[in-house]
Amino acid sequence: MGIDLSDIQIQRKKFDNPVHDVMENAARWEVKVHDHGMVGLVDVMPRLIPAGKTADVAIVQAARVSYGEGTKHVNEDRGLIRYLARHRHTTPFEMVEFKFHHVMPIFIARQWIRHRTANVNEYSARYSVVPDRFYHPSIDNVRRQSTVNRQGGDEPIEHATAQEFLNYLDKCESLYSDYEKLMEKGVSRELARIGLPINVYTEWYWKIDLHNLFHFLSLRMDSHAQQEIQDYARAMFALIQPIVPIAAEAFLDYNFQAMHLTRLEIQAIRTGQALDTTNKRETAEWEQKKAQLGL
Ligand SMILES: Cc1cc2nc3c(=O)[nH]c(=O)nc-3n(C[C@H](O)[C@H](O)[C@H](O)COP(=O)(O)OP(=O)(O)OC[C@H]3O[C@@H](n4cnc5c(N)ncnc54)[C@H](O)[C@@H]3O)c2cc1C
Repeated sequence: MGIDLSDIQIQRKKFDNPVHDVMENAARWEVKVHDHGMVGLVDVMPRLIPAGKTADVAIVQAARVSYGEGTKHVNEDRGLIRYLARHRHTTPFEMVEFKFHHVMPIFIARQWIRHRTANVNEYSARYSVVPDRFYHPSIDNVRRQSTVNRQGGDEPIEHATAQEFLNYLDKCESLYSDYEKLMEKGVSRELARIGLPINVYTEWYWKIDLHNLFHFLSLRMDSHAQQEIQDYARAMFALIQPIVPIAAEAFLDYNFQAMHLTRLEIQAIRTGQALDTTNKRETAEWEQKKAQLGL
């Protein structure tokens, strides 16, 4: 029966030097988000690394493989990682992986699932009953529709309207008792769930490599993303930062807090003239960049 593997000898080699667990022997690291949400870091690759080092070593090891130089001193590692980040040599960053457990409302999961480079396994509301958990923003976080950003809200709305909005959510959430009642009467879970509002929570395991995580974070920690997904993204960055501090710093310096200049913008700086476009949005973006640059 099966396949004969008896000719294959597996050599189990010990680590050359003492190692430590990057998660400090914890089963998981967790950050609570909002009322019922959570970002849990459940595993990391590499998990065991040379004492005194961070998981950044996996990036360096991959980058140096062609030279056969192995890992060098921390300072040289930092210089190499920062060079790789500046020049978008991305594959070494794919050698670090993170497995998360997320609990978030469905409207956030819908935005999140668009990031196709993660491996995902979600809670099944066909097999299991959806728990009675709904996202309720705090009254101060009920935001007025922005006049400048069609996709978002920024300023808090006045108290009475905020309260009316929360009452509306209460009404939607009261449908949970109908959901339970109809399942008791025999309606299948896969159908009973379809009347629940999208502020109900779901959860999943989500595994991603560091390169693609940085891409996710650059989009979802950004102020243009919905506030609620920003809160999750910031929690994830806080969890991974102590594990890959050098790469995280390089990400902030060369990606997240860096700026991309277009050819027209470079020309405007060189000539001191206005941006050579009639496009209002492009001009507004250039004004924002100029303010950031102190021009
Ligand atoms: C502020 C904001 C507003 C948004 N608004 C909307 C909206 O109104 N409507 C909407 O539908 N979406 C919207 N999105 C989603 C957005 O368009 C992207 O789908 C999402 O951000 C995922 O980005 P991505 O494809 O780069 O990421 P990932 O799926 O993680 O992919 C990472 C990278 O891998 C490559 N890649 C992955 N899969 C493929 C593939 N099949 N083919 C080629 N290359 C691939 C691409 O280079 C991609 O950039 C919004 C996103 C943000 C951040």
